[in-house]
Amino acid sequence: MKPSQFSYLRAESTQHALDALHHGGADARIMAGGQSLMAVLNMRLSQPRWIVDISRTDELNVVEVDTNDGYLVVKAAATQGSVEWRKTLEQEVPLLRHTFPYISHFQIRNRGTVCGSVAHADPSAELPLVLATLGGDVILRSKKKKRRLPADAFFQGMLMTAREPHELVEAVRFPLRKPGERFAFTEFSARHGDFALVACAAVVTDDSIRIGVGGVADRPVVEQLPRLTGDDLRAALNDFAWKLGAQDDAHVSASQRRHLVRHLGWKVIQEAM
Ligand SMILES: Cc1cc2nc3c(=O)[nH]c(=O)nc-3n(C[C@H](O)[C@H](O)[C@H](O)COP(=O)(O)OP(=O)(O)OC[C@H]3O[C@@H](n4cnc5c(N)ncnc54)[C@H](O)[C@@H]3O)c2cc1C
Repeated sequence: MKPSQFSYLRAESTQHALDALHHGGADARIMAGGQSLMAVLNMRLSQPRWIVDISRTDELNVVEVDTNDGYLVVKAAATQGSVEWRKTLEQEVPLLRHTFPYISHFQIRNRGTVCGSVAHADPSAELPLVLATLGGDVILRSKKKKRRLPADAFFQGMLMTAREPHELVEAVRFPLRKPGERFAFTEFSARHGDFALVACAAVVTDDSIRIGVGGVADRPVVEQLPRLTGDDLRAALNDFAWKLGAQDDAHVSASQRRHLVRHLGWKVIQEAM
């Protein structure tokens, strides 16, 4: 199928994009890498009148460290590849470094943006899971105001976020690694590069465990635990697996998903430890 007719606007600046969103409202859609949007348009799941292309908006093609607040700031036109291939990423946000190879294939990461994945909010997508597990946040900007939302307030359900139609996801911010933190990521998918059936990320310190799970609930879910080990940790992972409300679907049953949460959860925590 082909998309329904739309007008195309290439945003020359952030202000240009914000003006277009202001005037277009719910009839306007941002196009970043187009890797998810084009499929949605081709299937006519969405029929916007305006497409606002930000992929060549230079002032949004920025990845920088905010040393004052302690974040890696990724702006809206920065591709996943441009973050992945940053030489300092392992020191800055190691969990992102471990995660990128799981996201589809490098051709997709070469076009797809980090902010686009977060704005799209697929519950199986890896980047929203990493953002939520690290306790990062999302900078939303409209013509009239700018606001910052923690990831857990931004993600509201399957492909649903707190973004208003006239707002741009201007940037996402990943907390920089703190001393003593250790990280791991893993997932189970039908083939390498496919969306995860279940994905797990962990951040471990000397006295805490933070585990995030994607692909089970309608959004990434994060659980904070004390530094448990052995049977206590297995019991906590079992409780967490049940709490996620897994459903049967065409790919796997709810009980297989719970099994994967227990198994992958254990694995990432051991790896991080
Ligand atoms: C074959 C294939 C396999 C894939 N496999 C995976 C995978 O395994 N894991 C995974 O996580 N992803 C996967 N993806 C999706 C890929 O990572 C996308 O690039 C990403 O989800 C969306 O990024 P984008 O920049 O292409 O956004 P687009 O497709 O341009 O936009 C996606 C949506 O977000 C909105 N949007 C984008 N940017 C903004 C913004 N700054 N402000 C407001 N709204 C915005 C758009 O309007 C649209 O609704 C796959 C894609 C393909 C084609």
